[in-house]
Amino acid sequence: MDGVIVDSALYHMRSWQETYRSTGITFTEQDFKHVFGMRNDEIIRLVLGKDFTDEKFKAIAQAKEVAFRQLIRSYVKPLPGVIKLLDTVDAAGFLQALVSSTPVENIDLIIDSLGVRRHFREIISGYDVTEGKPSPQGYLLAAHRLGVHPADCVVIEDAVAGVEAARGGRMKCIAVTNTHPAERLAAADMVVSSLEMVNVGIIERLLTQNSGLAERSHMPIEKSLVLVKPDAMKRRLAGAIINRFEQRGLTVVGMKLIHMDATLARRHYAVHEGKPFFDGLVKYITSTPIVAIIFEGENAIELIRRTMGATDPAKAEKGTIRADFGVDIQNNAVHGSDSPENAAKEIALFFKKGEIYGVY
Ligand code: UDP
Ligand code: MG
Repeated sequence: MDGVIVDSALYHMRSWQETYRSTGITFTEQDFKHVFGMRNDEIIRLVLGKDFTDEKFKAIAQAKEVAFRQLIRSYVKPLPGVIKLLDTVDAAGFLQALVSSTPVENIDLIIDSLGVRRHFREIISGYDVTEGKPSPQGYLLAAHRLGVHPADCVVIEDAVAGVEAARGGRMKCIAVTNTHPAERLAAADMVVSSLEMVNVGIIERLLTQNSGLAERSHMPIEKSLVLVKPDAMKRRLAGAIINRFEQRGLTVVGMKLIHMDATLARRHYAVHEGKPFFDGLVKYITSTPIVAIIFEGENAIELIRRTMGATDPAKAEKGTIRADFGVDIQNNAVHGSDSPENAAKEIALFFKKGEIYGVY
């Protein structure tokens, strides 16, 4: 929001100036540049020095907020190109979300003053995340709530940490040089000096590059079998594991709690019969009830394998289910079918036709 939709720095500066003027202190643009980005309490402490009482501190903080809100309500203007872009992107059928580290009160104030709330299907504020940018958490949460795959998202950012957050979330990124010069934003897919230079065509082109829509739309819709294995069931990780797959845009089309018997286990793991770990594996997989799930989605089989990570948790890539939740090569939290043929076989072992639903 700040630096993309609106330049609130100006209003922060004016509200500090007004507040300090009434107490006889001058606060210049130079002073403001010096304190930009600091918290209100730090700024007041710096300006007033040691010579202030608690009451004076509170009065100044409050006066500044009142002045800020008043200024925003009366004067706030969107940055160039913003309104047109919000309108045309909506009209083209894209879903939009606002992701800001600002408290939700400030988001409400600004988007209602600008009259742009209706453009945002989801709003993520600083209160919704445990990690600010450069963590991709806010952007990933937005994609999750919109029900879209991160690879089908374009982030519009002005901050260096924001560009990093977009990349971390594997989203495309357009950076606008409202706050930082182009050199510092080079990690973005595209850098513009104003949002007037961005349009729906540019956004569509970005999305079809590499892993974008053009390629993905040729991908088959597949079903795959996932099992939450006994080690994960014991640690109450079923919900967290299902969530990882749902976050990637996969849909649950079948699900049950089942205590596998040795016959089912031998059939399910038939390809491993005769291997040294086979008997231990059968014993392990039949040791507790497990959750069996059929997920459906584009390229589901490969997507699930990538989300799971390597069989051995110690070798699994960071951020995968097995790296995060697996214990060792046997107790590796999750099973996922490894090919369309095996997915069909495995699904038939665990589910009857009437227990499988289409994507709703
Ligand atoms: N397994 C094991 N020891 C091994 C290899 C595999 O206990 O040396 C178990 C492990 O639980 C694994 C399962 O057998 O998930 C099936 O092995 P596979 O090679 O098919 O791995 P996956 O497809 O599950 O990644
Ligand atoms: Mg396997």
